[in-house]
Amino acid sequence: MNADTAFDIAVVGGGIVGLSTARTLAERHPGARIALLEKEADVAQHQTGHNSGVIHSGIYYRPGSLRARMAVEGSARMMAFCEEQDIPFDRCGKVIVATREDQLPALAELERRAAANGVPGVRMVGPEELADLEPHATGIQALHVPSAGIVNYSLVAQAYRQRFEQAGGEVRTNAKVIAVAEEPRGLRLETVQGDVRSKHVITCGGLFADRVSAAAGLKPPVKIAPFRGEYYELVPEKRYLTRNLIYPVANPAFPFLGVHFTRRINGAIEVGPNAVFAFKRQGYRWRDVSVGDTLEILGYAGFWRMSARYWRTGLGEMYRSLYKRAMVRELQKLVPAVTGADLVRAGAGVRAQALDRQGKLIEDFHIVREARVIHVLNAPSPAATASLSIGAAIADMAAGWVAAGA
Ligand SMILES: Cc1cc2nc3c(=O)[nH]c(=O)nc-3n(C[C@H](O)[C@H](O)[C@H](O)COP(=O)(O)OP(=O)(O)OC[C@H]3O[C@@H](n4cnc5c(N)ncnc54)[C@H](O)[C@@H]3O)c2cc1C
Repeated sequence: MNADTAFDIAVVGGGIVGLSTARTLAERHPGARIALLEKEADVAQHQTGHNSGVIHSGIYYRPGSLRARMAVEGSARMMAFCEEQDIPFDRCGKVIVATREDQLPALAELERRAAANGVPGVRMVGPEELADLEPHATGIQALHVPSAGIVNYSLVAQAYRQRFEQAGGEVRTNAKVIAVAEEPRGLRLETVQGDVRSKHVITCGGLFADRVSAAAGLKPPVKIAPFRGEYYELVPEKRYLTRNLIYPVANPAFPFLGVHFTRRINGAIEVGPNAVFAFKRQGYRWRDVSVGDTLEILGYAGFWRMSARYWRTGLGEMYRSLYKRAMVRELQKLVPAVTGADLVRAGAGVRAQALDRQGKLIEDFHIVREARVIHVLNAPSPAATASLSIGAAIADMAAGWVAAGA
C-alpha cells in the first residue's frame, strides 16, 4: 500500500454506522477523497451482522434524546432506503404486552413516550384485540406499535458500501487501525497494512469504540462494556405461534432486556435474548474469554459500580442463559403454548454499551467532535435503525472539512 495515499477523511470501522457516514459524505461531496478502513475481511461482521433486524419505532427512548429523534426519523428513512434499493423489509408492527397489573404503569409510560416522540399510530389494546393481532399471545393489555418493522441489516450495510464505492469512496478491509499520529499536514493512521494519511478521521469502532478513539488521541470518558445476547429459534413447525413481534414490558433503562419473540425477514422466529456480560469484546460464546479484555474492565471503577447497582438483574440474565427452562418460563408468560422442545439454539450477538466511571450505562448516542477527529463513542440499539440519521448528523459535523478542502 502506498504510504503517501492522502485522503480528506478516513472512516475507521465498517459497521453500519461507519458505512452510513462514509456513504453520506461521499454522495454529498463528489470529488472528496474518502476511505473506510475495516479490520475484518468484510464489512458488517460484528454488531451489524449479529442483530435482531428490527426497525425500531422509537417508543422506549427518553423524549428529546438523540435516540428518540433519530429512531423515529431513521426508521422512516430506513424503510424508504430499502424500497429504493429493493431490499426486502416488512412494516409488520409489534405488540408490547403487559401480563400483570403491576406492569400497567410502565406500559402507560411507554404510551406517553411514544406520543412525546411522535411515533405514529401507537394504541393501547385489550385482550380481544391482542388476540386478533397475535392469536397465541396472552396479556391483560398491550401497546400496538404499527410502525415497527423487520429487515436484514447486513444487506443494508452492503448497500451502503456499494453506494459509497459508486460515489468514489474506497473500502480497505483487513486494515486494522493501530494508532493515529498527528503530523504537520494531517494525520497518519498506522494500520496492519501500512500507513494511511488523511486530513481527518471519523472513528466508528463499535465494540472497540473506546480503544479506537484512544488510539486517535481522545481520552475517552467511557469504557465499552460488552453484553452478549443469546438467542433461540422456534422450530419451523411452531412458527405459527408468532405472527410478528411480541415483546414484554421492558425496563426503560434496559430496553434490550426481557425475552421476546421476533419474526426475522427470512421467516424464522427468534426468541430471547439473555444479556450476559461477555468476557471478550467479540466473544460470541460462553467459552470465549480474553484475559486482556477482562483485566481491563475489572480495573475500571465504573464496572464495579455498575455491578453493585445491577447485580440482581445480571444474575437473573446469567441464570436464564444457563438454564433453558428458566428462559422458557419467561417466554410462556407471553405465549403460554411454547415449550422447551419448540426451541433450538440460534446465534448470539455482542452489544457495545458505553459505561462511565460512575457505573452509569450511557443511554444516548454519544459523538464527540475535535479539530480533526470525530469519535462515535456510543451507538447502541437502535443505531442500525437510525443509521441513516446518524450518518447524516456526522456528515453535517464534518461538512466544513470537505467543503473548505481543509
Ligand atoms: C444482539 C443485538 C441485537 C440488536 N438488535 C437491534 C435491532 O433489532 N435493531 C437495531 O436498530 N439495532 C439493534 N442492535 C444494535 C445495532 O446492531 C448496533 O447499534 C449497530 O450495529 C452499531 O453499528 P456500529 O457500526 O457502531 O458497530 P459494529 O457493527 O460493531 O461495527 C464496528 C466496526 O468497527 C470495526 N473495527 C473495530 N476496531 C477497528 C480497528 N481498530 N480498525 C478497523 N476497524 C475496526 C469492527 O470490526 C466492526 O466492523 C442490536 C445489537 C446486538 C448486538
